[in-house]
Amino acid sequence: MDISYPINIYKAHFMKIFTFPGGIHPEYCKDISIREPLREGALPHTAVIPLSQHIGAPNAAVVKKGDVVEEGALLGKSDSFVSSPVHSSISGKVIDVKKAFNPSIGPVESVFIERDETKEPKKYGERETAEVPPKELIEIVRSAGIVGMGGAAFPTHVKLTIPEGKKIETLIINGAECEPYLTCDHVLMIRNTQALLDSIDILIKILEPKKVYIAIEDNKKAAVFAFQKALKKSSNKCAPIAEIAVLKTKYPQGGEKQIIKAITGEEVPPGGLPLDIGFLVMNVGTVNAVYDAVRFRKPLIERIVTISGDCLYRPGNYLIRVGTTIKEIVENYGIELFKEPGKIIVGGPMMGFAQPSMDAPVLKSTSGILFLSGEGAQVFDEGPCVKCAKCVDVCPVRLIPTEIMKNVRAENWEDAEKLYVEDCIECGACAYSCPARIPLVHYIKEGKSFAMRKK
Ligand code: SF4
Ligand code: SF4
Repeated sequence: MDISYPINIYKAHFMKIFTFPGGIHPEYCKDISIREPLREGALPHTAVIPLSQHIGAPNAAVVKKGDVVEEGALLGKSDSFVSSPVHSSISGKVIDVKKAFNPSIGPVESVFIERDETKEPKKYGERETAEVPPKELIEIVRSAGIVGMGGAAFPTHVKLTIPEGKKIETLIINGAECEPYLTCDHVLMIRNTQALLDSIDILIKILEPKKVYIAIEDNKKAAVFAFQKALKKSSNKCAPIAEIAVLKTKYPQGGEKQIIKAITGEEVPPGGLPLDIGFLVMNVGTVNAVYDAVRFRKPLIERIVTISGDCLYRPGNYLIRVGTTIKEIVENYGIELFKEPGKIIVGGPMMGFAQPSMDAPVLKSTSGILFLSGEGAQVFDEGPCVKCAKCVDVCPVRLIPTEIMKNVRAENWEDAEKLYVEDCIECGACAYSCPARIPLVHYIKEGKSFAMRKK
């Protein structure tokens, strides 16, 4: 289906544009994929589904080799509250349960399912949801295995369970999509605008916020227009309290703390959470998954993934089943790699993970797969710090990356901690700006892991 849009109708000059201090303007490269139609990816012949795809306790398998499973069947679960179950993305036979490569955390226990090619994709019937109480809605979200789809993969039911004494005043729907190359959220916002508004109504029922912002960067004019149009004639409960916040295109605009600061001027205290100051930020992909779970009782088994880079003929956005390996995408989607990629990245180029092989499967949190050559794939030699302070200027959290790096190199862990290393959001803006090509995020991650081990 064509998703071309009436870009001229957008009237940006009537709207206030929000932003945050610091940040960078990398080459965005979004044109490569945004004008392509959304395509349905072929079902995988063998799905490789990691039992841990989230922050929190790992799942234990509830299936074994030889079991026959239907699409949507439970594959793994945990009794821990901070965890999220995983489900089968296809119907077929379990051919193995063993360690396999998870593209963001390395080898984890995974279920291998060989697809039964005689089975049609499952149809999910619509359910009436108006009378479902908030607690039950959260339980539906938990059972469907929904996690943050913007990259963090934090279990959504945990985020929606507000502790006693706390209150969400403001809900921010995060459609910033500030990472270069990625356009999956943009496509989703254009195609599923009404479903997203319906899902915001579900979230309002759970959280009872006074205000909702739909936050979109100003390079996604079609998405801004789609929401403007939908809200204008909307009978949704969210319409009277929802406002579109157009954000300046700047990286990392989509960070939770940056988006709150940009729109409202409020700051989450160091070491704190948005919840501490009455905010909840949710990625649009996650909001869409909440809708599918509540309206259709559909678990999180597929998502839109941006396939992009400078090595392929058919970049674009594809609806892909969780567990589909990069190898199957390359072989079966007709994307035609016309040159050998120097680097394959899962996620965006700033925060994504370079892959050592094509065996990595699509996860619930996989927003993009990039096949890059040239500068995008270059590895640079590290030089000495020239004390230019560029890393300090761009840090959106106002850290001093160069000082943290020096302390970590010298193993002065406590001093790194005193520089609030734990508040780093690992956005990579500092390393991107460093003329000496110092891998600052690598050092900062080391400092963070020391601080976390102490707890
Ligand atoms: S120190 Fe952390 S938050 Fe600051 S720019 Fe570097 S990676 Fe981003
Ligand atoms: S940007 Fe790089 S060279 Fe400049 S102060 Fe920071 S670490 Fe040093």
